[in-house]
Amino acid sequence: MQKYQHYINGEWSDASDGGTFQTLNPASEEIWAEVPAATEDDVNRAVAAANAALFDGPWGTMTATQRGKIMRKLAELVAAKAGDLGEVETRDSGKLLKETQGQTGYVADYYNYFAGLADKIEGATLPIDKPDMHVFTTRGPIGVVAAVVPWNAQMFLTATKLGPALAAGNTVVLKASEDAPTPMFEFAKIVDEAGFPPGVINVITGFGEPCGRALTSHADVHRVAFTGGPETASRIIANTAHNYAVTSLELGGKSPILVFDDADIEGAVNGIIAGNFGASGQSCVAGSRVFIQDGIYDQVLAKVVERAGQIIIGDPMEEATQMGPLATKAQVDRIVAAVAKTTDQGGELCHGGKRPDGFEKGYYYEPTILACPHQDVETVQNEMFGPVLSAMKFSEEEEGIAMANNTKFGLGAGLFTEKLARAHRVSSKIRAGILWINTYRAVSPIAPFGGFGHSGYGREAGIDALMDYTRTKTVWINTSDQPMANPFVMR
Ligand code: NAD
Repeated sequence: MQKYQHYINGEWSDASDGGTFQTLNPASEEIWAEVPAATEDDVNRAVAAANAALFDGPWGTMTATQRGKIMRKLAELVAAKAGDLGEVETRDSGKLLKETQGQTGYVADYYNYFAGLADKIEGATLPIDKPDMHVFTTRGPIGVVAAVVPWNAQMFLTATKLGPALAAGNTVVLKASEDAPTPMFEFAKIVDEAGFPPGVINVITGFGEPCGRALTSHADVHRVAFTGGPETASRIIANTAHNYAVTSLELGGKSPILVFDDADIEGAVNGIIAGNFGASGQSCVAGSRVFIQDGIYDQVLAKVVERAGQIIIGDPMEEATQMGPLATKAQVDRIVAAVAKTTDQGGELCHGGKRPDGFEKGYYYEPTILACPHQDVETVQNEMFGPVLSAMKFSEEEEGIAMANNTKFGLGAGLFTEKLARAHRVSSKIRAGILWINTYRAVSPIAPFGGFGHSGYGREAGIDALMDYTRTKTVWINTSDQPMANPFVMR
């Protein structure tokens, strides 16, 4: 059994009470690694290390250019070790090896992008409305960042937080998910090798209680960056009532894909398949509400069903596999119940809806397609975070837009249309943080990423993200030779 330790202040350590938990391979259900379960003491130690690194260590006095250089070294090592990191992530999460390795290779671009921005954070000189005053602003780090990530794309979701946080000069305590935490400890080894001063990046794992709660409510944490589910987000907001931490929330979604009758059908079908069955549907931007205009509804649905039937399900380590298992048994159980409820509510099962034949072990579930009579069914209302697509019909453009917007979420949205005017018209009316037109699921370090409504707030990636990790300081200088005037004498 592989054993891991916390990475705190540049050193490896067990949990303060010796507590551990085990993690398993979702493809085989075999337990393969043991990790420490962080206690409140461990959280305190990690935050103290990050705080000291910021205020007493060399990180706080380093130039931004020097910080960028260390980040570039991190990027180089992540790229060089993407193969090994991807393998560990696949073993722990069940995600396809080609996806984890490809994504980790791209993660290096996130560190490089933000490394380049480190020495481009500028303040301003203000044309102030008072005589004899020179007023300028600087932008500095916010403080210790608590980065809390879920299991589905930890290397990636860590990079979207650490990249801007480090570039802006903050220090970080990263809490890996209790499901599939091991890739983050492999990442910690790379952090160590890259030459970050001790305490700048600390990596721990544990459960929501006590680890997540203690970390996000800690008095010395001033910035919380969270990706996960909406219920946890509500708890985190309550936690930050104790420390007033600036918070960003990247939450779930129920993203719509709208297919208009003028769409390129092949492209639209590819978008729907990618948006629902890529990463076994365990994607926050899954396009799981598919609205198809009535003239092409039957044709598009039939093609999607045909393509879903051709998806090769199997061992995520195999090159030929297109869909692996889900990450946890709880996920499968939740989806089984939701699909049953939807069919009871009038949804028609067009494909899937069960464990695939020939798979005795592993958390496998077929790509599943439901034709839904309206939006008032379980799989349309709630995020499934699995390979479950709900299809619905619309007639007029306005009706499609209204159906797409009829959700508490607002993360991604896809439009498939060949009409330029329609693409602009519809995208201006859709309430979502990211719109993909005639494509789906593309991301980049350069492009801001985040949601509206119950999909959260704040942006990851792009200049927006960098600014979200800085705090403005305004400096007033009296440039006259006169001492400050008596405030009680009016002139
Ligand atoms: P989750 O909310 O259960 O857990 C996420 C993290 O929060 C874990 O590390 C967990 O230990 C921690 N946590 C739990 N309770 C806590 C508490 N009280 N205080 C602090 N931390 C606590 O999410 P999950 O099931 O692991 O992940 C799936 C969710 O993540 C889905 O809703 C998905 O849409 C979302 N997600 C969003 C994005 C995005 O960028 N918008 C990306 C990926 C996943």
